Amino acid sequence: MPSLLRLRPPPTLGPNPNPNGREYSFSSPLLSRRKLMLNARMRLSSIRGNSCSARYAVLGAGFAGLSVAWHLLQNSLKDSNLCIDIYDEVGIGGAASGVSGGLLHPYSPKVKVLWRGAECWNECLKLLMVAERAIEARGPDRIGQDSSFFYMDEPIVCRRGILRTIMSEKNVEIMKENVRSCLENCNLQLLDKDAAQNLVPHLHVPLNAAVYMPHALNIRPVHYLQALFDACKNLADELCVSFCKKVEVNLHKEPISTLHELAGRYDAIIICLGAKVDMLPEFSGKLPLRACRGVVAQLKLSSDVGEEYSCSSPSILSDAWLSFQGPRSVLMGSTWDWASKNYSSSVSEEEASRALEELLPKASAVYPSIREWTFVGARAGLRAMPPLTTLGSLPLLGCVNDALRETDKCMYWLFGGLGSRGLLYHAFLGKLMAKAVISCDEMVLPPELTSWKQMKVWKDSL
Ligand SMILES: Cc1cc2nc3c(=O)[nH]c(=O)nc-3n(C[C@H](O)[C@H](O)[C@H](O)COP(=O)(O)OP(=O)(O)OC[C@H]3O[C@@H](n4cnc5c(N)ncnc54)[C@H](O)[C@@H]3O)c2cc1C
Repeated sequence: MPSLLRLRPPPTLGPNPNPNGREYSFSSPLLSRRKLMLNARMRLSSIRGNSCSARYAVLGAGFAGLSVAWHLLQNSLKDSNLCIDIYDEVGIGGAASGVSGGLLHPYSPKVKVLWRGAECWNECLKLLMVAERAIEARGPDRIGQDSSFFYMDEPIVCRRGILRTIMSEKNVEIMKENVRSCLENCNLQLLDKDAAQNLVPHLHVPLNAAVYMPHALNIRPVHYLQALFDACKNLADELCVSFCKKVEVNLHKEPISTLHELAGRYDAIIICLGAKVDMLPEFSGKLPLRACRGVVAQLKLSSDVGEEYSCSSPSILSDAWLSFQGPRSVLMGSTWDWASKNYSSSVSEEEASRALEELLPKASAVYPSIREWTFVGARAGLRAMPPLTTLGSLPLLGCVNDALRETDKCMYWLFGGLGSRGLLYHAFLGKLMAKAVISCDEMVLPPELTSWKQMKVWKDSL
């Protein structure tokens, strides 16, 4: 039988890390790891035996948290009772996820397929379908959020495609080359100026080249997350009926100020707190993450302006992006403020006008008609930016018990650093995370996602 808790050993440990047979102190990572392995085995055997019960806490109800919750339900042992408690201080989509532009495609700015782009894309499509089915099952209803941007009677996915303009001469050949190796089910088309303007009238195409992603999607993020939560509740009900077991998914709208608050209550805690993970005392200053605030402006086309934005025209990516929400509504983003520590989603008048000053020239450089639209409001979110690696900026996943010195048998997992591509990564990585949690096996996770644990900032904190 394979080891029940498999953690990637740090490379600094040689074949015999304890040659003198000396006892390690309790805080030694190696001893903690042994203890963890034992605890995890005991926990799994209790689940697989007659007592049959697993309790998970998911901290955060953004893209990461709700994807993990869904996949925990999907992959849980069919004969065990299951309780998933989701904690969020604001509610569903309360931070970066709810503010995001909802632009979904598997490509870099130079249209190169991103790390594991095909799997990420395919898993997103599956999860979107899950959310769409939950909406169908429920029928139209209004959303209970305080945001005036989103309503439940609008579809969660807008299939209008995305167009990326090419603004720099030096990128033209690279992008043409990348277009040739695009994904089959999210293909790319190189367009000249006429073809691009056929899709978006009045588009500025300075280099006579643009890349069209006809299958790329525009998601309404809060609406999607609400539906995904509904899907979790529905699946829990189905599991209860089909397997005669007790399955619960609960949303607790409350802040978590330290992990100690939850000690002793769960088999595993999955930390999906986005940029605010750094505010938990257990992680403060220990993770290789940088917060970056982004402001998104909502603009409307007033009813006396005749030419609406066609529902078959794509959203636009350039130095700024335009995510069209309807014929007279668009989100324009986003700023990148690396210095801000402002976690609030509210945007002051002054911050909004600075954002407009920055974004309008960039957006109008490709879509001049945007100047006819009127500003109606702005919101902001903090991205949790991971370090840049040779494979791109990859999220941080893994078991973090080593850092926590907790004495209960709970397993602690981090799912963070989704950067500016949380929507693309959330489904595939949420699935991997859930599998790692259920099997107590960190090796389920690709090493690229756990290699951050070898970084100095983390190792020094242990
Ligand atoms: C302006 C902007 C635009 C973006 N546009 C896109 C885009 O178009 N496409 C794309 O793929 N990505 C986009 N992103 C990136 C994407 O939004 C993030 O990668 C993603 O939302 C991260 O998801 P998350 O679940 O990790 O974190 P979050 O969405 O931040 O979720 C964390 C949750 O934890 C809760 N929380 C935090 N601390 C506590 C606590 N102590 N106790 C209880 N609850 C807590 C918060 O309320 C929040 O709901 C954008 C980001 C920004 C800022």
